[in-house]
Amino acid sequence: MAEIIDGKKVAAEIKNELKLEIEGFKNKGLGVPGLAVVLIGENPASQSYVGMKEKDCVEIGIKSISHKYDADYGEEKLLKLIDTLNKDPEVSGIIVQLPLPKGYDENKVINAILPEKDVDCFHPVNIGKMVIGDEDGFFPCTPYGCQHLISQTVKELKGKHLVVVGRSNIVGKPMANLMIQKNERANCIVTVCHSAAADLSVYTKQADILVVATGQAGLITADMVKEGVVVIDVGSNMIEKANGKRGFVGDVVYDEVAAKASAITPVPGGVGPMTRAMLLKNTVKAFKLKNNL
Ligand code: NDP
Repeated sequence: MAEIIDGKKVAAEIKNELKLEIEGFKNKGLGVPGLAVVLIGENPASQSYVGMKEKDCVEIGIKSISHKYDADYGEEKLLKLIDTLNKDPEVSGIIVQLPLPKGYDENKVINAILPEKDVDCFHPVNIGKMVIGDEDGFFPCTPYGCQHLISQTVKELKGKHLVVVGRSNIVGKPMANLMIQKNERANCIVTVCHSAAADLSVYTKQADILVVATGQAGLITADMVKEGVVVIDVGSNMIEKANGKRGFVGDVVYDEVAAKASAITPVPGGVGPMTRAMLLKNTVKAFKLKNNL
């Protein structure tokens, strides 16, 4: 049976390290990092994500600065708010919870955030830095968290075949980019698949490491993977389970794939907590870069 990659535990360790680091900043009289969280509208999922991020900040000593407005707040006001936050020395990082309601141009909003404060790593400058292997920017939180789990699980990554299913800008594409970099946390041979694949299993069967981010519950079955594969299931799908209760499952049929894999992330408790931890890590990094630490 596969090793269960405990994202919750790893995330808790990262949060503890960050908490100690922040206490160190405070003791030196440097103040603490601040994360501005902007939420527009009443999307329940977004409200819940924002609530968790605020709680995480409080837990480790980051100052959480919330800006919550109705959907009719308007793009012009939002851009002005971002400008104010860009200039505020107490704000180390800014995140605007996506999706934005209708009537907002998400690209315009993201591009208005100073790259130095773009701790979600959605700004083209930070994406570009990631692609060329410049470590001075940020890495997108979900793939960054997956990379952390992969490098803890697989001792020698060099030359391993990593297959990513999904090519979104926030998960699939940056995941592939992170893992082809020439460093000890990557150096993989990477294949990216998407919905145009006539037979997805042709690719997934070749994977030493399989990262799945499609939003399709049950897409990856045991016959699609090879024995000993390491599986990172990014998918987070709310479904009605056999017991009639609603709950989250991944994109991978967990029990049957776990029987064949050498290691696998559960859903929930795998990638999700890591995404949150990496946002905190990026916020602390922004603070350190600003203070030349
Ligand atoms: P998107 O919908 O933006 O992208 C999904 C990708 O999967 C697309 O590239 C799509 O291909 C591909 N895809 C869909 N169906 C298939 C298929 N049958 N075969 C092959 N490829 C397919 O989703 P995201 O990347 O934003 O998110 C993916 C999943 O990860 C979701 O469940 C989301 O909730 C979850 N997620 C979880 C996070 C966490 O922290 N745990 C964070 C972010 C996302 P194409 O481009 O051709 O349409």
